Amino acid sequence: MTGRPIYIGLGGNLGEVAANFSRTAETLGALGRVAARSSIWRSVPLDVSGTQPDFLNAVLCLHSSLALPEVLRALQCIEAGAGRPLRRARGSARTLDLDILLAGARGEEISSSPGLSVPHPRFAERDFVLWPLAEIAPELRPGGASSIAELRAQCIDRGLHRLDVPGWPGG
Ligand code: ADP
Ligand code: MG
Repeated sequence: MTGRPIYIGLGGNLGEVAANFSRTAETLGALGRVAARSSIWRSVPLDVSGTQPDFLNAVLCLHSSLALPEVLRALQCIEAGAGRPLRRARGSARTLDLDILLAGARGEEISSSPGLSVPHPRFAERDFVLWPLAEIAPELRPGGASSIAELRAQCIDRGLHRLDVPGWPGG
């Protein structure tokens, strides 16, 4: 294996979201190797008034030896390429949101700089992260505590739907 696993969360609810996910996987292939992709899942928006379209979410595992700030810069370029404005309110509708969720063979890598928190501070509360992540890394125990499969079982089930998306592996 070259580099270590980096788990990246993909989300979006505006425009051609699944096509943006496919382009993201292709582009990330230039930074290392995309070793696994979850299915694409659909969920209703969280923390918003309900006037937004549903979200699509997925998780990729990228094997890369790049430092995490470099990975974040690449993710921000991909977001910008998908038409996402640099500044917008947290929680607003977006074409593409790419987050670094976890890194390291045991999810042990930590970043606590102001612009980059890894593990992602909210990953363990978000069903739209845990359901796709559990497809590709159910046994991972970030911090040595609960596994992703256990976290998923504990998380409130809002009824995510797994989608069959033509052109997306496994879907
Ligand atoms: P959210 O993903 O919670 O909806 P945003 O995507 O709007 O929020 O947040 C973007 C900001 O979050 C960026 O400026 C980035 O520097 C910061 N950030 C901190 N930690 C991470 C991380 N692990 N992955 C992606 N962005 C992060
Ligand atoms: Mg984000």
